[in-house]
Amino acid sequence: MVQTVPAIQGWFTQGHAEGEQPALLGSRCTTCATVFFPPVAAEGFCRNPACSGERFEQTELGRRGTVWSYTDAQYQPPAPYVPASDPYEPFALAAVELPEGLVVLGQVARGFGVADLQVGAEVELVVETLYTDDQGERTVWRWRPVPALGATGSAAGGSR
Ligand SMILES: [Zn+2]
Repeated sequence: MVQTVPAIQGWFTQGHAEGEQPALLGSRCTTCATVFFPPVAAEGFCRNPACSGERFEQTELGRRGTVWSYTDAQYQPPAPYVPASDPYEPFALAAVELPEGLVVLGQVARGFGVADLQVGAEVELVVETLYTDDQGERTVWRWRPVPALGATGSAAGGSR
């Protein structure tokens, strides 16, 4: 029996159920409504220095954002990075600004690289397998470029 579970519990939903989309899970301060990612404990101190809030509720973050910055990881990052392949295959990382105003770093979806990215371009959240161990598949969120309106999709590897 192979399970598909998040590599990190509680940071995102996988959206495997019918009609369900994956989403990052953030924490919203019940006092100032500021949203944080990664999520914080249900009770703690708000990271907004102007706020004395101590309670948070879970909230799903917007599934689409815009590329704020990106980079190419040509060398294998140090631990706790888990190599997805041996030998190491370079991958692209994108920092994506979400509608909530925060920036979330993530790998770029399989099959895409820095050549598919542009600052200000739209990307959407997908959940892909990070690695497989004897427990099953471990998943992580990634950012997938959204083809611009009117594009044929050839550059984005869409239709075939
Ligand atoms: Zn607050």
